[in-house]
Amino acid sequence: MGEKNDIIIGIDLGTTNSLVAFADEAGPHLIAGENGPDDVIVPSVLGFDEAGVLKTIGVEAREHAVEQPTTTIHSVKRLMGRGFADVAQEAAALPYRVERRDESGERDIASIIVGERSFTPPELSALILRDLKQRAETHFGRSITKTVITVPAQFDDAQRQATRDAGQIAGLEVVRIVNEPTAAALAYGLDRKEDATIAVYDLGGGTFDISILRLEDGVFEVLATNGDTHLGGDDFDNALISLFASEIRDQFGIEITSPTIKQQLRTLSENIKKRLSDDDEAQIQIAIGNDKVYEKTITRDDFEKMIDPFVARTLDACSRAMKTAGLTQSEINQVVLVGGSTRVPYVRRRVGEVFDTKPYTALNPEHVVAMGAGVQAAILSGIERDVLLLDVTPLSLGIETLGGAMGKLIPANVKIPCQASETFTTFKDGQTNIKINVLQGERELADDCRSLGVFELGGIPPMPAGLPKIDVTFLIDQNGILSVSAKEQRSGKAASIQIIPSHGLTRDEVKRMEQEAITHAREDMAAHHLIDVRTTLEFDLNKVEGMLDRYETQFTVNETTDFSKRISELRSFARSCDDATTINERREAFNQSTLPLAERAMTAALSGSIASTDGDDDRAPEKH
Ligand code: ADP
Ligand code: MG
Repeated sequence: MGEKNDIIIGIDLGTTNSLVAFADEAGPHLIAGENGPDDVIVPSVLGFDEAGVLKTIGVEAREHAVEQPTTTIHSVKRLMGRGFADVAQEAAALPYRVERRDESGERDIASIIVGERSFTPPELSALILRDLKQRAETHFGRSITKTVITVPAQFDDAQRQATRDAGQIAGLEVVRIVNEPTAAALAYGLDRKEDATIAVYDLGGGTFDISILRLEDGVFEVLATNGDTHLGGDDFDNALISLFASEIRDQFGIEITSPTIKQQLRTLSENIKKRLSDDDEAQIQIAIGNDKVYEKTITRDDFEKMIDPFVARTLDACSRAMKTAGLTQSEINQVVLVGGSTRVPYVRRRVGEVFDTKPYTALNPEHVVAMGAGVQAAILSGIERDVLLLDVTPLSLGIETLGGAMGKLIPANVKIPCQASETFTTFKDGQTNIKINVLQGERELADDCRSLGVFELGGIPPMPAGLPKIDVTFLIDQNGILSVSAKEQRSGKAASIQIIPSHGLTRDEVKRMEQEAITHAREDMAAHHLIDVRTTLEFDLNKVEGMLDRYETQFTVNETTDFSKRISELRSFARSCDDATTINERREAFNQSTLPLAERAMTAALSGSIASTDGDDDRAPEKH
């Protein structure tokens, strides 16, 4: 970092949520608040008291938005830099007071009245900026005076100026205003790649923007924008809320009027929506009073039908933007997803269809604009992005296999784009889940590698261990974005994850990891071998256990007890012994002794039926 006073932060000043970030050699980082590393999102909400004195900002203010509608100020971004006449309609829909402020000689501006006080939109935005500034100051332990702030691509000069004013009021020099879609592309590092046409689809809480960017020589130009200033995740929430409210009306004859229950309903509905992004169904329970409880289960299918009209409107806007830019879908090289509402799988699917390409989701869509603002800030403060060789993989990539070993799929120093596949299988009879831990590094044990991300493949049909075939594919595209997918051959069940392997890595870090692998080569090999031997033993013991269980009637009580005892003895022996050869000898001897039992079981199997087993272990996959 250069001069001591040169830290520049990057701020995403959103309609719904705001965040602050910075970038160093290893890439962009979000700055968290006092509630731990996950506390990075500040809802753009201000809580005042009746007199107009600011009481709370962010999460706490938002919790009372419905209960205290006239003193909880949100969505200020909608009013920024616009004349009162322009926002009259907008203002009518906001629960707090918005009035015309006559400024002689200037154009009428909108002002927000809280209690006895009146605020301009930049003054209110400044309160959020000040909060973010403080976060950054706590993080760096020094005063921060410079920032980059992002705005929607279609913001006009007055709106951009109002954003600068907000910064100034907060004691921040706004060194650059950056378009949100450009920031998203910067976060993905697309500016360092070859020229391309990029669509940025941004579905937030209350606004939708589609932007088409042209990247040439590292510079982005906005070719077209389209969207809807009243379309977003709030509509998804409202669809759920009206469904619940009308069912409560029908079932209990109750109209929900209490602000507290309304607030509760809103919070619950948003939570249900978020859960449906991960799960196939979600449940709601609301106490209506008089021991009455309203209960409802919503499936992902139900939800998709409810939000389809909103999603369809975003897709229409995408088509219009392509038309304005004079482009067809095949001319769009990449699609970047931005905004919390693009976590909805249905949104991802449909956007992929309309552009006929798999959208980028490697970065958290709620964080990506702030991360890009941080990258822009770093560029302006002269921080070199540690240009790891961009056209090869700096370190090996693979997945964690059974017993905690690193199974490499793509070695270090391979030219990108590249692809590799391998087939894995289950370890336990009837196993229906597999956890895929994506690793980076040169060491043999998963624990000594960097975990880049974890995902789960579920819904594998129950089969005996070793039978399912799970294809795991690693694909690194020309931009260095890694997609890992897992697919079970018989059922076609699939799951995937996207990752940027170079994020969080510096050249020094790569060197250190390479060096460590060399230093530990011998012990790593031994450790890997030991894992393999233990895994094979466990696999064999499981088989015998399954047999004892399934053909119980074929064995004497003595035999069953004897073998169960020997199995658990062998297990604890294998745990305490780290000599692979000895474990292997014991395993072979044990297997030998089980042959007579296996024969009897086989005879029984041929004459009778085989009982099926079930299980849902999410053990790591085993090589096929
Ligand atoms: P903005 O840019 O308007 O400030 P964000 O990008 O922060 O907004 O998006 C906020 C919206 O994202 C909210 O409607 C929120 O409910 C929604 N959201 C956040 N997480 C999820 C999720 N896991 N599934 C669905 N929607 C989500
Ligand atoms: Mg946003």
